[in-house]
Amino acid sequence: MEYQTTLTTCTYCGCGCNLFLESLDGKLTGTIPCKTSPVNEGRLCIKGWNVHQFVQSEKRLKRPMIRKDGELTEVDWEEALNYTADRFKAIHKEGGGDAFGFFASAKVTNEENFLMQKLARAGLGTNNVDHCARL
Ligand code: SF4
Repeated sequence: MEYQTTLTTCTYCGCGCNLFLESLDGKLTGTIPCKTSPVNEGRLCIKGWNVHQFVQSEKRLKRPMIRKDGELTEVDWEEALNYTADRFKAIHKEGGGDAFGFFASAKVTNEENFLMQKLARAGLGTNNVDHCARL
């Protein structure tokens, strides 16, 4: 059995608490707060304590899904992107940019969040942009 701890930064919000992810034989098993971090000084909130769980969660979506006849159905990326583009065009034609609301994720990079708000503001003309880290 190979046990490891890896120093990293919590992905859940912009505070940037440092923590160690524990792994056993390559699978994440736990989280330990970093005592020497000047950001969190050995403390974590409840989200940070459980940050290792979403990576290997069975509930994590790995492929795009579209609801067909009331059922969420896995589709390939081309179908998902074409469907989304068509729906965006139809919604924008009917309700304008403010018919949209964009909700970004703390689990992606700053650059990806930047691109999302650019799509919202410059692409669709709405300032309806928010982020889970603000909640
Ligand atoms: S979610 Fe909690 S543990 Fe993670 S960075 Fe924010 S305050 Fe720190």
